[in-house]
Amino acid sequence: MTRKPIMAGNWKMNLDHVEATGMVQKLAWTLADKEFDGSTVDCVVVPPFTDLRTVQTLIDGERMPITLAAQDVSEHDSGAYTGEVSAAMLAKLRVKYVVVGHSERRQFHAETDEVVNTKAAKVLAAGMTPIICVGEGLDIRKEGRHVEYTLNQVRGTLAGLTAEQVASLVIAYEPVWAIGTGEVATPEDAQEVCGAIRKEVADLYDDATAEALRIQYGGSVKSGNVAQIMNKPDVDGALVGGASLQPEEFAAIVLYQ
Ligand code: PEP
Repeated sequence: MTRKPIMAGNWKMNLDHVEATGMVQKLAWTLADKEFDGSTVDCVVVPPFTDLRTVQTLIDGERMPITLAAQDVSEHDSGAYTGEVSAAMLAKLRVKYVVVGHSERRQFHAETDEVVNTKAAKVLAAGMTPIICVGEGLDIRKEGRHVEYTLNQVRGTLAGLTAEQVASLVIAYEPVWAIGTGEVATPEDAQEVCGAIRKEVADLYDDATAEALRIQYGGSVKSGNVAQIMNKPDVDGALVGGASLQPEEFAAIVLYQ
């Protein structure tokens, strides 16, 4: 099976809605210059909540080959949860993907696999696609337990989801020690864990589900290293932080082929 690559740029808490306008326009112009139409790669931007409406209006209005994603979602449907944004609210803004369980959410907001699992289920129930982040910290990597640790996160975050749901979603393997550090896992490191994730999904579900699932690598991806990482058989895309804030650089990542 051929899986369509997916490149997602996570802006984190950067770019207000005015800056976002310039960013998306420059990205779209750069992609248009190279005649990119979105048919070969999914190009996804992940702005802060406050930018979503502005970016959605631009993307839809100008028919840009760019898909909108959100950085997080509430595990609740509605009610007295000050500061939270529900899956239904995101779906109404034509958000297509939602990142859940990013290591910064796990680290600074104590999100557990159980919470991430609930969020993924809410995203799916609202008709969107979760990008579920997993990956080990440096201590675990040094102990050589990175595969076992990450697969445990995979099992926890997929709990209760159907084969059909799992086939449709995206898992991002992001070794925490490689995020925002300039420290990139080697393509072989990325393949080792992405391959193990696919095998685990085949064991938990079936081969067809594992073959359909898209797995991204994330951690200091740039235009200069993306092609080697994408060359690995179980890597289907990248979740990009810092480099996604430079439109030409992110466009080069999207156009890596
Ligand atoms: C991320 O935050 O998901 C990430 C991969 O960041 P960076 O590309 O900056 O390492």
